[in-house]
Amino acid sequence: MARTLSQFLNDLDRDLRARGDWGSVADYIPELARIDPAQFGIAVALADGQVLTAGQADQPFSIQSVSKVFALACVLGRIGEQLWLRVGREPSGDRFDSILLLEQEKGRPRNPFINAGALVVTDELLTGRSPRQALTEVLGFVRQAAEDENIHIDKAVAESETRTGHRNAALAHYLRSFGNLQNPPDHVTGTYFHQCAIEMTCVQLARAGRVIAGLSCAPALLSPVKQRRINALMMTCGQYDGSGNFAFRVGMPAKSGVGGGLLVVAPGRASIAIWSPGLDGWGNSRMGTLAAEKLAEFTGWSVFG
Ligand code: GLU
Repeated sequence: MARTLSQFLNDLDRDLRARGDWGSVADYIPELARIDPAQFGIAVALADGQVLTAGQADQPFSIQSVSKVFALACVLGRIGEQLWLRVGREPSGDRFDSILLLEQEKGRPRNPFINAGALVVTDELLTGRSPRQALTEVLGFVRQAAEDENIHIDKAVAESETRTGHRNAALAHYLRSFGNLQNPPDHVTGTYFHQCAIEMTCVQLARAGRVIAGLSCAPALLSPVKQRRINALMMTCGQYDGSGNFAFRVGMPAKSGVGGGLLVVAPGRASIAIWSPGLDGWGNSRMGTLAAEKLAEFTGWSVFG
């Protein structure tokens, strides 16, 4: 008899744990450096409203850059196409926190998912709002999308990054020097660090991702055009300079975070959240990527058929 998706997820959890090559946790944010890499959870939210899980799917983790998807959704809802005057839509082929291209391209970041681009998105979120209001907007979007009020910001992680996030501070000041940051750099980085410090479980993240996947059971928060655009950016830029490799191996739009989280989208079919905090050389979850690859093989959910 064919294996069900639920059986597959349980087998996947067991097989990945047996492998043991977890990768290493992000150590440049002190609060994340203390996390045990040998952890794994997965949740798959389906169009009919079911959420299937395996492993540590109820363990909260720091979503970090996965939050960039939700911040982008808020800003596109607010200012739409105007954002593209300030940020590009091309893969960077560079590290997530690289400053190199910013000089060559005169302060217009390549895309909204590298840190420089995400800082511009956060700057837009801050326009006409205090940092607290901007954070309330992003957190409100995530809670509404997940239909779960029990989603919060981990203050210790935000403070840990505020103390040590000198590269992001440098990027913000550099953007400001090109006139591509309207708000004070420390307001922008402070808001960004708190947004990245949103803590969610795989179940909560998979449920929030339903709006990005355009599932019929999802709350109507995003137009189909915005969904398509966000999905295109996730496919081309969602894993930084590992995006090509991810598209090759998995074939689904996804966004990674250095907390080891991964939101993977099978448009119209499923929203998948995976968490395993050990990272590969690109800063993407090592087991998370392998799990997404195996899931794509099992389900045939690659957008490339
Ligand atoms: N807060 C992290 C940073 O800016 C996010 C990076 C990531 O998750 O890729 O360094």
